[in-house]
Amino acid sequence: MIAAHPLEKKPYNAIKFARVDGNDTPLYTVGKSKKELGAAAALRSAFQQFGGHCFHCKQWMPPERLSHDRTRDHVRAKHNGGRDFLHNLVLACGPCNRSKGGADLISFRPEIGSEYMKALDEHLVKCLKSLGSK
Ligand SMILES: [Zn+2]
Repeated sequence: MIAAHPLEKKPYNAIKFARVDGNDTPLYTVGKSKKELGAAAALRSAFQQFGGHCFHCKQWMPPERLSHDRTRDHVRAKHNGGRDFLHNLVLACGPCNRSKGGADLISFRPEIGSEYMKALDEHLVKCLKSLGSK
């Protein structure tokens, strides 16, 4: 299981893995809060506290509530089996999210997609190493 977000920048780095609940759902805490949240709620909370960049066009979005123009986007689209796991969620501005539509990240913007896959690979290697050292 990938317990954290592969991107190590704001606001993803504010989200910390807490534990797995009885249904095998990973739960997270955000910032100084001790409240445990599911992945989608954790990203929403992190964005409201810290803001973040649109994953696609890199536009800075200051901390605010998610809306039509400040959205969570699925790396692998929902209709292709993409789920609400933290590593499958990124922030996107409304225009990017709408032009991406139901496409997967990799086919929407191959360059940014491959950057993401590289980060995910590196993250997985770190996860495996930390498992091996326990
Ligand atoms: Zn954008």
